[in-house]
Amino acid sequence: DTIGANLDKTVALYPDRDAVVEYATDRRWTYARFAADVDALALGLHGRGIRKGDRVGIWAPNCAEWMLVQYATAKLGAILVNINPSYRVHELEFVLNQAGVRTLVATPVFKTSDYAGMIEEVRPRCKRLTDVLLIGTPEWDGLLETGRAGDAGVLAEIGATLSADDPINIQYTSGTTGFPKGATLSHHNILNNGFFVGELCGYDEEDRVCVPVPFYHCFGMVMGNLAATSHGACVVIPAPAFDPRATLQAAASERCTSLYGVPTMFIAVLNEPSLDSADLSNLRTGIMAGSPCPVEVMKQVIERLGMAEVAICYGMTETSPVSTQTRADDTLDRRVSTVGTVHPHLEVKVVDPATGVTVPRGTPGELCTRGYSVMLGYWEEPEKTAEVIDAARWMHTGDLAVMDEEGYVNITGRIKDMVIRGGENVYPREIEEFLYTHPDIVDAQVIGVPDERYGEELMAWVRLRDGAEPLTAEALREFCDGKLARYKIPRYVHVVDEFPMTVTGKVRKVQMRAEAVDILG
Ligand code: ATP
Ligand code: MG
Repeated sequence: DTIGANLDKTVALYPDRDAVVEYATDRRWTYARFAADVDALALGLHGRGIRKGDRVGIWAPNCAEWMLVQYATAKLGAILVNINPSYRVHELEFVLNQAGVRTLVATPVFKTSDYAGMIEEVRPRCKRLTDVLLIGTPEWDGLLETGRAGDAGVLAEIGATLSADDPINIQYTSGTTGFPKGATLSHHNILNNGFFVGELCGYDEEDRVCVPVPFYHCFGMVMGNLAATSHGACVVIPAPAFDPRATLQAAASERCTSLYGVPTMFIAVLNEPSLDSADLSNLRTGIMAGSPCPVEVMKQVIERLGMAEVAICYGMTETSPVSTQTRADDTLDRRVSTVGTVHPHLEVKVVDPATGVTVPRGTPGELCTRGYSVMLGYWEEPEKTAEVIDAARWMHTGDLAVMDEEGYVNITGRIKDMVIRGGENVYPREIEEFLYTHPDIVDAQVIGVPDERYGEELMAWVRLRDGAEPLTAEALREFCDGKLARYKIPRYVHVVDEFPMTVTGKVRKVQMRAEAVDILG
């Protein structure tokens, strides 16, 4: 199916069920109303000249209109270009030009950011950008109005010309390791992946999925929106941007059954003072993904948020995104300490990064994924695509993993983050897991810093509990002594209030390494 055809099927089955709820504004759409607005917007955009294959940018924080644009462009076969809401002029200009965006749909202002002003600033330098549409303006309302009066037969005709293998989306990666790359994805890629994520979470029309992760990223738009709409479930948007308090309130008052987050978001929710008074009795499942999911945090999510069936997903933008997922019937130990097993209809293998040969089970190597989920390629960058997808269509993820005898995968880190200290390979992930057991440490990140003697030395960046005593490197080393091998014990410790982050909530170790070099002088 195409995304549009799949939405129509859901609407036919559950017209009166909630499709989208914006908690902050209390705006609500049933599937019938949502589909009517999607069609109206699609006709409106068609009237403005959008055709199959045209790139339509979306630059806005999470809101219902984001979803309307997502499905309306899919109905036209236009390629949606997700633009990071934290971008500023320089990055905006880059993306608009790189993807050749014709029409940009944007929020006019958000918090202190004047999006409309920034668009005007870059416009003269973006030759392909011929049309800008601002959400919530009279022009926007007028477009929907015109669309409502339009001829629905037009959409049916367009639908018949679309193929599920057409590119439908350019999603940018998080930019954790460098500049974001634009993964080109088809209906087939992301609709199937969203569907299977929802299937493994056991979604049906009774489910209400709280999505505080950004829509511009695959976690929100595929694992959230597409997973929900392909099963008739409802998407609850707590706030335009992540806010732990709003997330808790939305989950409680909308009786959400599922809650999403990257680990840092769950840590914030667990540390939110209003947690104890929130009624989360409907929460059953949810997804933690995006970066290494600490066992301690997973345990607390299960116990304190009552998310007994919470899953860990592993994946990347380039693979639609999910490749492995834990299942509700896996043992508790596996559900908190592994990223689960391979998804339906996909293959994963672990290879020696140097030779490409599959390593024995239990041996670390680079994880590779193959199957329907692998992207069409990086948008207009065939050389970069060829670096990651080999001739047999295996996607080389750049992630280090170990697969056990039964196929459970453990992500041990990114190849780029691995530290080589005095010839020993050190996986920061393992040390971070251990640091979480320190009573004063709420969050820990370990990086390698240049060292004359050992090539690299380990530095731990930690966030401490409120009111904790200052933590010295000596005290931390003492805590690790006898529990971690000598070469894994961090030499330096740096206490921070926050880590440098991407908007998707990932810690930017590249930036930490650069800052560490300055700190150490
Ligand atoms: P960029 O590619 O631009 O540097 P990125 O890799 O963070 O950024 P995404 O596509 O958003 O961009 O994230 C995919 C990566 O996130 C994976 O390659 C992996 O390193 C990490 N990741 C995702 N899920 C998990 C997980 N459950 N456990 C550990 N790491 C994960
Ligand atoms: Mg990546």
